[in-house]
Amino acid sequence: MVIVGGGASGTLAAVHLVRGAQARGTALRVVLVDRDGRHGLGQAYATADPHHLLNACAAKMSGLADDPGHLLRWAYEQGLNLDGPDFLPRRTYGRYLRDLLDGCARKMPYGGSVSKLTATVISLAAEGRSLRLRLSNGDTIDADAAVLATGNRPPAPWPSIEAGPRYVADPWSPGALTEICDGSPVMVVGTGLTMVDLATTATRANKDTVVYAISRHGLLPRPHRCPPSPAVEMFPPGGELRLAGLLRMVHTAIRNNDGDWQGVVDGMRPHVPGLWARLGLDDRRRFLTSMARYWEVHRHRIPPATAARIAHLQATGRLRVLRGSLVSATAGRDEMRVRLDADGVGRELGVGWLVNGTGPAADVTGDPFLGGLVDAGLARPDPLRLGLDAEEYGAILDAAGRSHDRIFTLGPTLRGVRYETTAIPEIRTQAAALAPRLLETLATGGLALESSAAVM
Ligand SMILES: Cc1cc2nc3c(=O)[nH]c(=O)nc-3n(C[C@H](O)[C@H](O)[C@H](O)COP(=O)(O)OP(=O)(O)OC[C@H]3O[C@@H](n4cnc5c(N)ncnc54)[C@H](O)[C@@H]3O)c2cc1C
Repeated sequence: MVIVGGGASGTLAAVHLVRGAQARGTALRVVLVDRDGRHGLGQAYATADPHHLLNACAAKMSGLADDPGHLLRWAYEQGLNLDGPDFLPRRTYGRYLRDLLDGCARKMPYGGSVSKLTATVISLAAEGRSLRLRLSNGDTIDADAAVLATGNRPPAPWPSIEAGPRYVADPWSPGALTEICDGSPVMVVGTGLTMVDLATTATRANKDTVVYAISRHGLLPRPHRCPPSPAVEMFPPGGELRLAGLLRMVHTAIRNNDGDWQGVVDGMRPHVPGLWARLGLDDRRRFLTSMARYWEVHRHRIPPATAARIAHLQATGRLRVLRGSLVSATAGRDEMRVRLDADGVGRELGVGWLVNGTGPAADVTGDPFLGGLVDAGLARPDPLRLGLDAEEYGAILDAAGRSHDRIFTLGPTLRGVRYETTAIPEIRTQAAALAPRLLETLATGGLALESSAAVM
């Protein structure tokens, strides 16, 4: 059993599989392959900056779908002073995921194992009842089943930016943010959570740093209310669903909740995958072009401490949020010259660093590995090209729309199918749903895993 991608999705898939195997008393050999060696951490939890906090409180961040108190108990055992409403540093959460994975691996019954392998999977081919994965180092792995947990893609290349040593094309690649802390001005394209992280790190590292952030709307993520609002129970309508009707329902719920939108957004969240699947394609497109940005800033909120820091940076002129777009950028020796259209006025600026913080690229065909699966007809993008097309529980669909019984996916790759699919509560639920199906597949098809790869 191979899991491609060792971030939170791959890790939680492995953990739920191992727990399932333990419960059934069956042997299972899992290889968790990660390109960057960030097993348990992935993009979100590999940060070394202790000021990068989770954007959800600890009570909501257990890695186990059936054990909501697990993270809090882990924190207690570690001697951490943590309460349910607290926001943990993301690097500590990464440590938690690693511990969870290692703890499960130690309890594998009947000679089963969990191995962590650092390598890039470059292709996957179905050969009879077996899958053959090729790695960038020339090794191959034959497996009964595979889980594609490749996570978020790097941001799409920005047209009209001339690449140079002072252009950071992917802020989440390992070590990308270490250089931008030299005190020179930083410009971020995008005003979402990536920008918040970046502004936090760059301005703390150097008291002279000024951060410019530009996006079409200039909208920043909203802060969490403290104490948090209880989630409002929502009852979406049955029958034919239209976006306009959904919007009316949400506005009415906010009015009935004395204007407190946070409880309504949180109450809507578990319904999103079901509603998304029921919406027509045109309505889903309409949502993406005109509403998604507003949903995102209200749904993915930042902790009060982070919000206070961002407000302070804005008040002192060290964070300047611009509404508009980047027209072009050229690379100089010691700076990037950027041309902007901000609030309808053309402007030119020299900055020390330019960072693409526009968020993950959607189209999976741009990823060499996933694109290869699509070319081979083993997978297909979803109709909106936000990820992979798949059954509700993660079995991917091939070019003809048939669900594959041995290749599954979870997490951000399911964006087109479920929309809300990137945060831990959604990922752990998907991992818990996936595990019994996969174990059933393995039980009926026998278990064989041969690897020519060196296993760490
Ligand atoms: C900055 C940030 C903060 C977040 N904060 C929170 C939060 O507070 N609470 C919350 O619930 N959610 C949060 N999230 C969302 C969520 O937890 C992450 O999106 C989640 O960690 C996704 O994990 P993943 O494993 O799917 O993807 P990733 O973390 O991207 O991991 C995928 C891994 O797969 C590897 N990979 C890809 N292709 C291959 C290949 N071909 N071969 C081998 N390896 C490959 C990559 O190298 C990568 O390590 C945050 C996300 C980000 C980006």
